[in-house]
Amino acid sequence: MKIEVLRIGTRLVRDDRVTTHVTLVSRAFGASKIYMYDANPEIKETISKVNKMWGSDFKVEIIENWKDIIKLKKKESFKIVHLTMYGENIDTVQDEIRKEEKILIIVGAEKVPREAYDMADYNIAIGNQPHSEISALAILLDRILQGQQLQKKYSDSQREIIPTKKGKNVITKNASSSD
Ligand code: SAM
Repeated sequence: MKIEVLRIGTRLVRDDRVTTHVTLVSRAFGASKIYMYDANPEIKETISKVNKMWGSDFKVEIIENWKDIIKLKKKESFKIVHLTMYGENIDTVQDEIRKEEKILIIVGAEKVPREAYDMADYNIAIGNQPHSEISALAILLDRILQGQQLQKKYSDSQREIIPTKKGKNVITKNASSSD
């Protein structure tokens, strides 16, 4: 399944750290691209460094108008999945979403305009309590991909972690080192 993410809402400028974390979760948990506006352009640089070191060609696009992205993605046959605590519980719709071929996941910041709810094909709640866009996105991606994203390895990475009970074991190219 092709998965992309769109971050919307007001006061995004003051929310750089959360936007960075939403981006890291998108990349690590199986999405291929994130769209955002009013974001610090340094996020692009941060993610490009992460891609270089740990692999993948995850993309960050700074956009002007979020509604145009939704319209474009609808034309490209993406289904729009909006994460909101007011939506249908993920337990009841996850099987349906897993059957989709392409989805654009909308995650909000402080205030999400009403149009996002109307433009969405699915308004999905990760439980009906308020929490965070970072946790909501991580849980949604896990429910959709059923853990497969946690086994993902990238052949183009400069480094690879060898899981270990204690300490760190990281392979850098052909050399193995512990620190
Ligand atoms: N009441 C706010 C609203 O929905 O406008 C909550 C904002 S919350 C800090 C930021 C984002 O986290 C929301 O826009 C939504 O994408 C996500 N989120 C928070 N709780 C959620 C939940 N229970 N289910 C799904 N998404 C959630």
